[in-house]
Amino acid sequence: MTTRCGYVAIIGRPNVGKSTLLNALMGQKISITSKKPQTTRHNLLGIKTEGDYQLLFVDTPGIHQHEPKAINRYMNRSARRALNDVDVLLFLIDRQKWNADDEDVAALFNETQAEKILVINKVDLMEDKAKLLPQLQKLQAKFPDAKLIPVSAEKKVNLVELEKVIRSLLPESPFYYDEEQITDRSERFLVAEIVREKLMRQLGEELPYAVTIQLERYETTDKAIFIDVTIYVEKEGQKRIIIGQAGERLKRVGIDARTDMEAMLGAKVMLNTWIKVKSGWSDDERAMKSLGYDDD
Ligand code: GDP
Repeated sequence: MTTRCGYVAIIGRPNVGKSTLLNALMGQKISITSKKPQTTRHNLLGIKTEGDYQLLFVDTPGIHQHEPKAINRYMNRSARRALNDVDVLLFLIDRQKWNADDEDVAALFNETQAEKILVINKVDLMEDKAKLLPQLQKLQAKFPDAKLIPVSAEKKVNLVELEKVIRSLLPESPFYYDEEQITDRSERFLVAEIVREKLMRQLGEELPYAVTIQLERYETTDKAIFIDVTIYVEKEGQKRIIIGQAGERLKRVGIDARTDMEAMLGAKVMLNTWIKVKSGWSDDERAMKSLGYDDD
């Protein structure tokens, strides 16, 4: 049997629906979606094996060329690195909006040698579907060597077609991973992402960008899995916001996170969370490295 296997990256500015698309294609929730941009700081690798093909998804972090902070430089570097090593590149755009950030990603998109698919997302939001055709023609002229596929990641429209096209562009190759393997990210990483997601849910717009989650302890015993997590913020005020009145918010985050962790791990979880202020960390590469944002 001839098998096909290769790396697939999804790029696009924040909020176009990259995490939603990845989850929909995977058929499982493996990365965290939320309305807040910049949630996906790490490259996530999702693996989908079906029949004679295996898709290895690299979900690249957002690309923010206009922001000079170190965290954004990190994302640019790692995004570029990821792009140099993929077989199929998906450029995700929002049907409704095109802005300077899309333009930046478009430049990256055109730069790479990978097989290219331009995915136009959120078509469910279009009131007048007849407007799609002229828009597709314009985009095809702008990206002549890309295949164009309109989808709705959220409503799961046209995803079968998208996957068919991705598959056809994969190189012939043996599988790289065991068929059972879904992600090579450790449970530790997912545990930290769950805390991030719960913070996001609790705080919404109030959540400071410069929040990072550090796992201090992950210990499996007969009785339970002991997990200690530190939430780093930049300012005292942010710490107060996250803790909330009489500690209510942080308590809620802890309870919700623990519930999800127990479901994911299938075991009892003892979760402790702390908040620490680490001033200016997001603009200090050394501090970032000490927190695990080391992309070398
Ligand atoms: P990312 O930052 O690119 O990873 O974007 P997310 O996957 O987090 O999605 C950003 C927002 O767009 C979320 O609120 C999603 O629910 C929403 N979204 C994603 N795909 C679609 C879609 O096909 N249609 C609609 N209406 N909303 C979508």
